[in-house]
Amino acid sequence: MSSSKPRIAIVGYGSQGRAHALNLRDSGFDVTVGLRPGGPTEIKAKADGFTVKTPADAVREAELVAVLTPDMVQPQLYGEVIEPNIAQGACLLFAHGFNVHYQQINPREDLDVVLVAPKGPGALVRREYEIGRGVPSVYAVHQDRSGGAEQLALAYCAGIGGARQNAIKTTFKEETETDLFGEQAVLCGGATKLVQAGWETLVEAGYQPEVAYYECLHELKLIVDLFYEGGITRMHEFISETAQYGALTRGPYVVDDNTRAQMKKVLEEIQDGTFARQWIAEYAAGNAQYKAMKQADLEHPIEAVGRKLRANMKWLGNAPATAAKAA
Ligand code: NAD
Ligand code: MG
Ligand code: MG
Ligand code: MG
Ligand code: MG
Repeated sequence: MSSSKPRIAIVGYGSQGRAHALNLRDSGFDVTVGLRPGGPTEIKAKADGFTVKTPADAVREAELVAVLTPDMVQPQLYGEVIEPNIAQGACLLFAHGFNVHYQQINPREDLDVVLVAPKGPGALVRREYEIGRGVPSVYAVHQDRSGGAEQLALAYCAGIGGARQNAIKTTFKEETETDLFGEQAVLCGGATKLVQAGWETLVEAGYQPEVAYYECLHELKLIVDLFYEGGITRMHEFISETAQYGALTRGPYVVDDNTRAQMKKVLEEIQDGTFARQWIAEYAAGNAQYKAMKQADLEHPIEAVGRKLRANMKWLGNAPATAAKAA
């Protein structure tokens, strides 16, 4: 494959798939979308003007196949559809290293195998591209049979807009382990449990649930925006001295040595494969526990309070789903 713009098949048209397909097309790549006929996102891909084929047909004609289905369906998809159809010497691309790193997929020997992982949700990957910016991305090479695997990863990264913003070279191992740690300990797991526990503490002490919602959930965005723009330094520039002194002295009550030990445990379970084995087994068994735990989050009383308050935040009506599928 000598072209600097390989013919691309995007398999899966969800959060990442749609954003990658649209950005790559706008960057001049020939993009075909591979989806199960009658699947939930086929109509969307067609409405966006893409040629939609079965995954097998899309894969067969491509020089680069981007695997953008949910992680848990990828091993079966690879075994049944991709490996039997992908051209000799083609490039297989992932947006998360999970299946290769934990050896759920062992790619065929003749293939280039690369990773391009935007560090942001698909909606943001698209929106940043449209305004001429990009979401920071990491890329990696697992297998380089053509001698040009890294160039292919970089071309794809540029095509989705990621190389405009600090593309960092990583490995499948580092991307997988840091991505899982970030979403578990800090971004998704840590943040939700911190917000819920803070809200519960105030409400149990008799404060109004609505006031507690503003303090523990709503205002978090204002602080995170400051982090995003200028780090913790910028937060300190914008909050009161009282807030700074309280943060510096009381923050460590909450994130203490025990919390750090727990974070280390989270990381160890990622590194030794415990987390991966547990999630794969849960998925294979039908996700009963996953669904029940998720339902408990959806039914947490802070959600009802938030729905009521957000109904009056008219500016949220057209808010893009930046928070959807972010990790
Ligand atoms: P998603 O759940 O949003 O979309 C999945 C798509 O795959 C849908 O179009 C669905 O219809 C399709 N699909 C499901 N099963 C299929 C099958 N058997 N055959 C063909 N198509 C099938 O997925 P996502 O969140 O975009 O995740 C895709 C990949 O991107 C994952 O590897 C994930 O780890 C990675 N990633 C996601 C994000 C994010 O923000 N969501 C960020 C970085 C990396
Ligand atoms: Mg306040
Ligand atoms: Mg204050
Ligand atoms: Mg992730
Ligand atoms: Mg992530």
